[in-house]
Amino acid sequence: MALHIDETCINCGACEPVCPTKAITEGPDIFIIDPNTCVECVGHFDEPQCVKVCPVDCIAKAS
Ligand code: SF4
Ligand code: SF4
Repeated sequence: MALHIDETCINCGACEPVCPTKAITEGPDIFIIDPNTCVECVGHFDEPQCVKVCPVDCIAKAS
């Protein structure tokens, strides 16, 4: 259970501070979600906060 950031990320940084489990970090090229700590915001919020704030909709379910 985790979300994934795709290569269209523009490195705006908006998602990093809103993650309740601190699963998002800045990677070498784009921001990255740690699949081991992302809980899809379950137990914290009604919807994934990173998806809500991302301006380019580049965050989706990991395949
Ligand atoms: S879905 Fe929630 S827990 Fe997962 S990375 Fe986004 S903000 Fe963090
Ligand atoms: S909010 Fe979206 S575009 Fe901005 S850093 Fe996060 S994943 Fe990338």
